[in-house]
Amino acid sequence: MKVLVINAGSSSLKYQLFDMPEGKVLAKGLCECIGIPGGTITHKRPGKDNYKTETPLDNHEVALGWVLKLLADPELGVIADIAEIEAVGHRIAHGGEKLRESCLIDDEVIKYLYSIVKLNPLHGPPAIAGIEGCRKLMADVPMVGVFDTSFHSTMPEHAYIYPLPYELYEEKSIRRYGFHGTSHRYVANRVAELMGKPIEELKIITCHLGNGSSITAVNKGKVVDTSMGFTPQEGILMGTRSGTIDPTIVTYLVSEGMSAADVEKMLNKQSGFLGVSGKSSDARVVCDAAADGDKRSQLALQILYYGVQKYIGAYAAAMNGLDALVFTAGIGENDRDLRQAVCRDMDYFGIALDEQCNATCPRGEEVDLSAADASVRTWVIPTDEEFMIAKDTARLADR
Ligand code: AMP
Repeated sequence: MKVLVINAGSSSLKYQLFDMPEGKVLAKGLCECIGIPGGTITHKRPGKDNYKTETPLDNHEVALGWVLKLLADPELGVIADIAEIEAVGHRIAHGGEKLRESCLIDDEVIKYLYSIVKLNPLHGPPAIAGIEGCRKLMADVPMVGVFDTSFHSTMPEHAYIYPLPYELYEEKSIRRYGFHGTSHRYVANRVAELMGKPIEELKIITCHLGNGSSITAVNKGKVVDTSMGFTPQEGILMGTRSGTIDPTIVTYLVSEGMSAADVEKMLNKQSGFLGVSGKSSDARVVCDAAADGDKRSQLALQILYYGVQKYIGAYAAAMNGLDALVFTAGIGENDRDLRQAVCRDMDYFGIALDEQCNATCPRGEEVDLSAADASVRTWVIPTDEEFMIAKDTARLADR
């Protein structure tokens, strides 16, 4: 069964065509600069040269038209006809309170997604544009929505209700939702498979550390807590986001004359690695600067390491124990120094790395990095959100 996975951002659209259930990637690519000058499409097929073209991409529908054309192109394509695509899976950042599991997309679902755009103003509209575009171009093909929030919907009330007036939850849906759920779900299930144990018997902490970062506690297969909250702003230091701060800093800055929009921009776009180091939001640049002796870059890294350690401690407490710790995403998968620094002095929790293994483990592989005598198994597992979306899509569309 051929499944197309679409991940639509505000000015970009990523796609992957899978052959399911094997999960073989037939083609993938990226449309950039949608709705702004400089439209570019990069189309990749395993074992073949990449194809890149520059063309105006006025909106998501135009970009999708290109994707379908390329997939079925006699020279550049991988299928004879777009009718071979039997289902489309859409990555959707926010499922609100109602969409707690992946589901087939119908008019009701789209209506609900419009109703929660307020909760998700950055990612909601492009996701809807991607769905609407597909509906026009592939009217009879079933579409499935896979939500970043849904894995976290098992959180108990005491983890997701903020200690604010309760009416804010009832009337404005202000609560903790959590994000990156598809990635946390993938690596949590994968670590259970790799350890040869049912996930229902394991206490797992998953650390998705990338440009945006979140940490999740998964007890017996169910999320009990996660570091992101009402928005992806909560939690640990990220590329440009501050993570959790004392909320009074916001009101203090507003009282000093800063506009609410500027405060939000500062928290979202000018903080984190970028704000503390003053160098970059990119972990590689910050790591290089720190290695060259730049004090603020060293400080930014220390804040991240310390933040990750505190969440691990808190989540081990929340689950009354820990069996597996997983590092994933750009920084978690690639930054050996981070893994070493986070796992250092965590022997109280039973966490200890085989430092040689951590230093030499090949990129892109699933590796148990733990010291032989550690009671917690620490893994690096490359995330694969697209495969998880394709899996859910194939399952729901095949009914
Ligand atoms: P993601 O959001 O998962 O794509 O991750 C992006 C982040 O991963 C960026 O901050 C990159 O600098 C970081 N990253 C990628 N490769 C490395 C590496 N080898 N060492 C440190 N950070 C890396």
